[in-house]
Formats: sequence, C-alpha cells, structure tokens
Amino acid sequence: MATIEHWIGGEFTAGSGNRTGPVFNPATGRQQHDVVLATDADVNAAVCAAHTAFESWGQASLSKRTKVMFNFRELVNARVKEIAELVSDEHGKVLSDAAGEVQRGLEVIEFACGIPQLLKGEYSDQASTGVDVFSFREPLGVCVGITPFNFPAMVPMWMYPVAIACGNTFVLKPSERDPSASNYMAELLKEAGLPDGVFNVVHGDKTAVDALLHHPDVAAVSFVGSTPIARYIYEQGNAHGKRVQALGGAKNHAIILPDADLEFAAGHLTAAAFGSAGERCMAISAAVAVGGAGDALVDLVNRKANEVKVGSGRDGASEMGPVVTAAAKQRIEGLIDSGEREGAKVTVDGRGLRVPGFEDGFFVGPTVLDQVEPSMEVYREEVFGPVLSVVRTDTVDAAIDLINSNPYGNGTAIFTSSGEAARRFQRGVKVGMIGINVPIPVPMAYYSFGGWKDSLFGDKHVHGPEGVSFYTRAKVVTARWPHVSHAYDASLHFPTSS
Ligand code: NAD
Repeated sequence: MATIEHWIGGEFTAGSGNRTGPVFNPATGRQQHDVVLATDADVNAAVCAAHTAFESWGQASLSKRTKVMFNFRELVNARVKEIAELVSDEHGKVLSDAAGEVQRGLEVIEFACGIPQLLKGEYSDQASTGVDVFSFREPLGVCVGITPFNFPAMVPMWMYPVAIACGNTFVLKPSERDPSASNYMAELLKEAGLPDGVFNVVHGDKTAVDALLHHPDVAAVSFVGSTPIARYIYEQGNAHGKRVQALGGAKNHAIILPDADLEFAAGHLTAAAFGSAGERCMAISAAVAVGGAGDALVDLVNRKANEVKVGSGRDGASEMGPVVTAAAKQRIEGLIDSGEREGAKVTVDGRGLRVPGFEDGFFVGPTVLDQVEPSMEVYREEVFGPVLSVVRTDTVDAAIDLINSNPYGNGTAIFTSSGEAARRFQRGVKVGMIGINVPIPVPMAYYSFGGWKDSLFGDKHVHGPEGVSFYTRAKVVTARWPHVSHAYDASLHFPTSS
C-alpha cells in the first residue's frame, strides 16, 4: 500500500509525524493508500518554503509568470486522462465527470495565463497641476488553500493558478480523502518551470488546518468545504489577521413552472441531482414544482432516475459512481429514512443498492422523495448525496420566498418559457449563482464563483476578477517631478488639487 507524502520545497517528504489516514477506493470499499497527516512542524516547513520562495517569485516578471502558466496549461491539457483516473479512483465519480472537472480547472489556468492584462493598473495624468496619480496591485505573500473532497482537482485549481500568477506562493491542504491529484499537479507545476517552494502541498486534518490558520507568515486563506468549517476558518483566520474567503455548503433549489418543457426540465434535474452522486456543491437537491407542474414532473423524474446506470467510476458504462465513504453512505441513507418517517413519499429508492462485482462499494442509488415539506430533516440538511426532494408551491413568488428563507444561497435555477417569470426570479432570489433553464450555473472562469449567506463567508468570490482582487492589494502613487525653476507653494492645508 503506497503512502502519499507531502510536497514541500519541490520534493516529496514523509514529514515529521507518525499519524496517517486511510484513502479508500469507494467503488470497491477497500483502502488503497495511507496519507501522511501533517504536524505543526510539517506545516511550518511548508510555509517557510513558500515564504522563502516569495522573495524571488514575488519579483518575477509578468512574462516569466505567464510563461509558467502557459506551460502548465499544456501539461494539464495533455494529462487530463491521468488526472481524471486519480480523481475517479479516490473520489468515486465516473471518468467522464472527473475529466469534466479537470476541464473546468483548466479554464481557470487559461484565465490566469492572461495575468498581464488582469494586473494592468490605472493612470491619471495631470490629476493636479504637475501631479500624476497611478495605481498597481502587488501580491500578498504566502496564500493557503484548504479544499474539500468533492472536486479534488478543480477546486484547488480555482485558487492556486490565480494566486501564483499574481506573484504569490501557495500552500495547499487538500482533502485527506482524495489527496493524490494535488501531488500530481505539484509535479506538473515543477515540470512547467515553477521554482521550488512556490507551490507546496501538506496533507492532513484539523491539526494541519489550525497550524496554517495560526502561522504568522500566512497572508491569506481560501477555503471551500462545509458551512460549519467555513465559518470556523473565517473566524479563526480573521482573528489571526489573515485575509479570508471561505465558501460553505449549499442547498440548491430548482423551480419548475407549468409553462416549462417538462421533459427537458426532468432530464436536466435528474442529471443535476444525481451527477457525481449528488456530491456537488451546485447539485440540485430540491425541486420546487409550481402550480400544476408537480405530478407530471415527478413521473418523468422517476422514470429518468430509474434509468441512471450506477457502477464503478472506471466502468465506461457507468453514469454515476459510489459516494465517498461508508460514513457518507450511512448518513445519506439515514436522511432518506428520516424523510420517509416524517411523511415524504419515496418514489425511487436508492437505499441498499448492490452493484454486482462491487458488493462492498459505497453505493447509494438515485432517490426521489415526493411531498417533502420544509420542516423535514431531509429538506433542512445538506444531504450531499443522490437524493432529490420534490416540494410543491402554488406560485412563483412562494417558490422565491422558500428559497430566500433557506440559510444557504449558493446556486439556484428556474425552468420556464416565460421571460417575465425568469426576470422576477433572477432579481428576487438571494443567491449568488442563478441558472435560467440551466440547472448547474457554474460561472465561467472569467467570472467569479461564489454564493451568498451561509454559502460564503467573506466578501470575495473565487477566481475571475474577484480572485485577482483577493490575491493582490493595491498601491496608489501620487507623484510630481518639480522643475527647479518651477515654484510650488508648500502649504499646511490638507492637499487639494489645483
Ligand atoms: P469539509 O468541510 O468536511 O472539509 C473541507 C476541508 O476542511 C478539508 O480539507 C478538511 O480536511 C478540512 N476540515 C474538516 N474538518 C475540519 C475541522 N474540524 N477543522 C479544520 N479543518 C477541517 O467538507 P467536505 O466534506 O470535504 O466537502 C463537502 C462540503 O463542501 C459540502 O458541504 C459542500 O457543499 C461543500 N462545497 C462547497 C463548495 C462551494 O463552492 N461553496 C464547493 C465544493 C464543496
């Protein structure tokens, strides 16, 4: 069984501790690796490597940084299959889905290749007589990324390409459940010409996270994960003087109006609820059927849910793989039980699914619960599994109110053929990312990604223009070059322009 090590200062190291964690293959249910869990000393070594590397990387020219990003883009593009296999074997998602997440990460690298354009400053000639004012942005120093299990390649790529292109150095603490993709990316960055120490990976759990949050040389922390941990990271990071963006969990609703093409809506709902076994922060977990749309919609969704092919992520015929751990399977099945107990109708039941040849795998089949009420536990909790709850409301406004009374505000979607209803929806919902007949409205890399309310703590979304802003800070220079012959009156008054 291989041991997955840290990547510090451009090489692998086992670190100084003796704690490890198990990494499973969720399809077989068997442990396939151990991952080392960092000590305070390991975290310190990674931050020191990044801190030292910042002295030169922070001064590297835009051309040099851009060249590394272009090289990295080419390498990742050439290795999509290899990265997808690592993701699929440790996360469980099917290969095509894993390749999709690498593709979306690649788009962020491509965005970061444009860093010279993105970092252009502003210049005001003759702001006052003989005085010019200009601004530019500088990197922060050592930036940290703490990431979840569900997108082991893409979510870190939301962060480090932008941070590094801006001139920062980076320490990544990926999920300990599926750590291999991060090490592979570290090797590709080195091959792309990134100097040692600019990108480091420490594996670990709360010990590693706390050491990063407390380290005096860490300037900024980007976090993506569940809401309770996001809130903790935000509070602790701020208390220790870091800049923090902390993206949390989600409960994404799609509303379906009677005027929608129901066949189209049901197909997209099924894909958005059960793709990646529902383990996406943008998965649709609540379908809100408005007016008379409910019965026909549930019939269509039931049919499509029953047709989803569940199997090992490595099997090309599979459309949906297992969930990530045995504990996740137990938790998801427990929430389905609670929904049934509280009066929801289980119209498609994925509990107890057994996949031939993979009897010990962590599989839960697609599950549809109809007649779900907002008071039920299965509605209130983020299930993070292949479970679609169907709720009914009488009007669009009631559906919007339901969405707005939810503590989360990550993504949402509307299915309709009415422009007026769609516009009312887009203006009325308190949610960060909105789809109109698009069930998973993940913004392109040149926009920024982020939710509202308990789905994001901090005021900057990730990647896109807000990512550049997060990883840099501005300087504004007011300058004059007086001629010897030119008299300027110095005054004790507060400076005003003339
Ligand atoms: P998680 O919160 O359990 O873990 C995320 C990271 O925090 C991991 O690196 C983990 O090691 C670390 N961590 C876990 N417990 C900790 C603790 N007590 N103290 C300090 N650090 C700790 O999340 P997860 O289960 O890996 O991922 C699923 C969650 O992430 C879901 O809630 C999902 O909605 C969310 N998510 C959100 C987005 C988004 O964009 N908003 C994207 C992806 C995932």
